[in-house]
Amino acid sequence: MTSNLRNKIVVSGIRSTGKLHLGNYHGALKQWLSMQDKYTCFFFAADLHGLTTNYATAGDIPVNTRTMVEDWLAAGLDHENCCIFVQSDVPEHSELHLLFSMFTPLSWLERIPTYKDQQAKLSDKDLSTYGFLGYPLLQAADVLLYNADLVPVGEDQLAHLELVRKIARRFNFLYGNSPSFEAEINTIMDSIDKKQAKKLRTLKRDYQQKGLSVALENATRLTANLGLEQGMQDSLCSYVAGTGKTIINLPEPLLSVTPKLPGTDGQKMSKSYNNTIALTEAEPDVRKKIKSMPTDPARVKRTDPGEPSKCPVWELHKVYANSEIKDWVINGCRTAKIGCIDCKSVLADSIVKEQAPIIERSKDYRDNPIVDKILSKGAERARDTATTTLRKLKLVMHSRDN
Ligand code: SF4
Repeated sequence: MTSNLRNKIVVSGIRSTGKLHLGNYHGALKQWLSMQDKYTCFFFAADLHGLTTNYATAGDIPVNTRTMVEDWLAAGLDHENCCIFVQSDVPEHSELHLLFSMFTPLSWLERIPTYKDQQAKLSDKDLSTYGFLGYPLLQAADVLLYNADLVPVGEDQLAHLELVRKIARRFNFLYGNSPSFEAEINTIMDSIDKKQAKKLRTLKRDYQQKGLSVALENATRLTANLGLEQGMQDSLCSYVAGTGKTIINLPEPLLSVTPKLPGTDGQKMSKSYNNTIALTEAEPDVRKKIKSMPTDPARVKRTDPGEPSKCPVWELHKVYANSEIKDWVINGCRTAKIGCIDCKSVLADSIVKEQAPIIERSKDYRDNPIVDKILSKGAERARDTATTTLRKLKLVMHSRDN
């Protein structure tokens, strides 16, 4: 099972806009740690994405990037097991982003739900820039350069991945319907039984003209039983679907089950909202930040009962606490047997306990030249794949008119 999964490519990045925080750790890094032994993984520090919202303080990004990678290594990411690199060390990301921008309709970007939402939330920054609007295209380049099979995402990022898939489909449609594709289909059709070829043509008509999705399903079944190699089967299915030859693979989501971690103000934890607790935050600061968190507004006085489901502190307990502590919080809160200060103090204990070994290991990586070597080796490996993909994509784009 695991050896099959090793053939699957996973690509994921974290924006380098500051120290790694608990939201990144539970939302992404913990998943990376569990995936690095199973899949072929490309993990990158997204410093170009950091610029989309932090272009005015661009000078901080190299330091943030370096610190974040040190935190990854301290948390257990193993560079022997996965490819770790910095996005801007692989310039192919920028070039593919530019090429994708040529054929992506503006409305696709404007319709991304987080676009307006983030602009409103980050009203202190001027985000009416092309870079901010176009960052989902950079995400598409990040993923498609490595022929990703799987992309780890949370529910809230599904729309972004769907856009990545739409861009791949559009690319295949624009550059896969070349005369050479038609010639390839004719050759395959000539090599199979005439009745089956006729049936495929009928199914194509049913699907493309009558919109019968069952026709595509039947075509997929039929092609699988023709004894053809996988590439030919794919080409026949693309012919029936009218999407052109599959030049770019469509990645699938690897859905994260991790809940959104609230930040110290109760909103989603995010560097953009300045409400984070760093993975390597000093203990007194962790305690201070937890102490300042909002709670269920109904608990005005210590004697007022509360409801954990209305409290962001509980959301963090759900991630950190064992069942005994969870029962203690639920019962104590609802009956007012515990106060919010006790409840927060227990939460801070759990966070500090998990952080301690990571903080200890992180000391080994601070300013250690080994980190530079790891990143340079990672960039070299990533570029091997990225240059090959980009060359292939540019070739089909330029050969369309040939
Ligand atoms: S007791 Fe805990 S869960 Fe209940 S309101 Fe206070 S902090 Fe929130």
